[in-house]
Amino acid sequence: MSTTKHDLVVIGAGPGGYVAAIRAAQLGLDVAVVERESALGGTCLRIGCIPSKALLESSERYWAARNEFAAHGVKMAGVKLDLTAMLKRKKRIVEDLTRGIEGLFRKNKITRYAGQGRLLGNGRIGVKAKDGMTELQAGVILIATGSTPAPLPGVELDGGHVGTSTDALSYATVPRHLVVIGAGYIGLELGSVWNRLGARVTVLEYLDRILPGMDAEIAAEAKKLFEKQGIKLRLKANVKSAGRKARQCVVEIEGQKRLTCDRVLVAVGRVPRTKDLGLEKVGIELDKKGYIPVREGFATSAKGVHAIGDVIGGAMLAHKAEEEGMAFAEQLVNGHGYVNYSTIPSVVYTHPEIASVGRTEEDLREAKTEYRKGVFPLRANGRALAMGATEGKVKVLAEARTDRILGVHVIGARAGDLIAEAVAAMNFGASAEDLARTCHAHPTLAESIREAALAVDDRSIHS
Ligand code: NAD
Repeated sequence: MSTTKHDLVVIGAGPGGYVAAIRAAQLGLDVAVVERESALGGTCLRIGCIPSKALLESSERYWAARNEFAAHGVKMAGVKLDLTAMLKRKKRIVEDLTRGIEGLFRKNKITRYAGQGRLLGNGRIGVKAKDGMTELQAGVILIATGSTPAPLPGVELDGGHVGTSTDALSYATVPRHLVVIGAGYIGLELGSVWNRLGARVTVLEYLDRILPGMDAEIAAEAKKLFEKQGIKLRLKANVKSAGRKARQCVVEIEGQKRLTCDRVLVAVGRVPRTKDLGLEKVGIELDKKGYIPVREGFATSAKGVHAIGDVIGGAMLAHKAEEEGMAFAEQLVNGHGYVNYSTIPSVVYTHPEIASVGRTEEDLREAKTEYRKGVFPLRANGRALAMGATEGKVKVLAEARTDRILGVHVIGARAGDLIAEAVAAMNFGASAEDLARTCHAHPTLAESIREAALAVDDRSIHS
C-alpha cells in the first residue's frame, strides 16, 4: 500500500470541505481532498441547494406562464410542461457546477482522492476505493462530511414512492398527490415545486406553525401565501407511519384521518454524517445529538483533527459551512479567521422567498431585550408593483436603547438577495438609522429595506 503525505487532508468535498481546501491551498498548503462520490460539491451541489433551485426557477416560470403572464398583457395558449426537459436542465446545471469545482481544484493544485475516507490513527487516513486502499499521511485532517436526511420512526423509505429530497428532485412524472412530512426548508421548497407543476400537495407539520426558528409573524404570513397557492398545510400533525400498500402510499397521523397519496417526501431535518469515519481510532466521541464537538480553531479532541459544517452542528446551511471552511484555513495558516454566527442569513427559496438574519421577535421577547420594530409592506414599493410581486413585507428590529440592528426578516420576491444588505449592515454593527440614511436606487425592491429602517423611527415615507 502506497503512502502519500500532504499538509492538509480534507474528508468531504461539500461547500465546507472544498472551500476550506481552496483557501488552504491559496495560503500555500499542500492540500488533498478525499471524496467518495464521483462528483465534487457535496449534498448542496449534487442533490440539494443547486438542483432544487434549478427546479424552483423552472417551475416558477411554468406557473407564471400559466397564471401571471396574462396580467402583464402576455397571452399564451397551450402552455405545456416538459418535465423531462426540466429535469435535464437541472442535471446539466449540476454537472457544470460540479465540474467547475474540479477546475478549481486543478487551478489550486489540490489533489483529489476518490473513495471513502477513514481515520486510521494519528495523522493517518485510509481511502477505500473500488481498486483498493490508499493510505495518506496528513499534518492536519479536516472532517467535512456533512449530513444525511433524518429518518422518521415508522416510515420506511423505499427510495421512490416514500423517499427523501433526493428522490423528490427527480420524480419522472408529476405526482397526483404528494404528501410532505415536515414544513421546514425542504418540505416547503420541494412542496412548492410539485404544487406549481400540478400535483396536489399536503404538508404535514408536527408543530403548530411552519418554519420553526423563523420569525413567527413572517412564518404566519408565509403560511397564508402558500395556502393561497393551493398547498394544504396541516399543523399539529404527528406522523406515526408511512408506507406503500396496494399501489398507494398510506400516511397514518396521530388522532387525525389517514391520508393516501402516490408519493411521500420525508423532510424532517438532517443528521450529521459520522458513520464509518474511524472516529474511534483517534478517540473522538460524539455529543448527545451525534455531532462532533469542536473548540477554538474547529479542533476536535484528537490532536491534528478538525471538523466543520453540518457535522459539528449549528445551522445546517451551505454558507455556514463555507464560512467555517475559510475561517478554519485562515486560523490554521495565519492565526486569523472568524465566523460571525450572529449574522448568518437563512433563506427559503419559495415564492415569495423568505429571508432572515439575526434575532426574531420571539427571541428578543424571551431575552427581555427592548427593541423597536419597523415594518414596510411590499405593496407600497414601486418596483414590486411594476413586477407584480406585491406580496410580503420587510421587518427591521433594532435595540431600543442603541438603535443597533438586531434582526431583519423579509418575505417577498428576491428576499434572498435583499437580505445581503442587512447582513453587511449587521456585520458592521450598523444602526437602523445607518440603513435609513443610505441612498437606495429607485425603483428597486431594496428600497423597502430602507423604508423598514425608517419605520423603526416611525418615519417611513411611503407607508
Ligand atoms: P427543517 O429542520 O427545516 O424542517 C423539518 C420540519 O419537520 C420541522 O418543521 C419539524 O417540526 C418537522 N417535523 C419533525 N418531525 C415531524 C413529524 N414526525 N411529523 C411532522 N413534521 C415533523 O428540516 P428540512 O426541511 O428537512 O431541511 C434539513 C436541513 O437542510 C435544514 O437544517 C436546513 O437548514 C437545510 N436546508 C436549507 C435550505 C436552504 O437554505 N434554503 C434548503 C433545504 C434544506
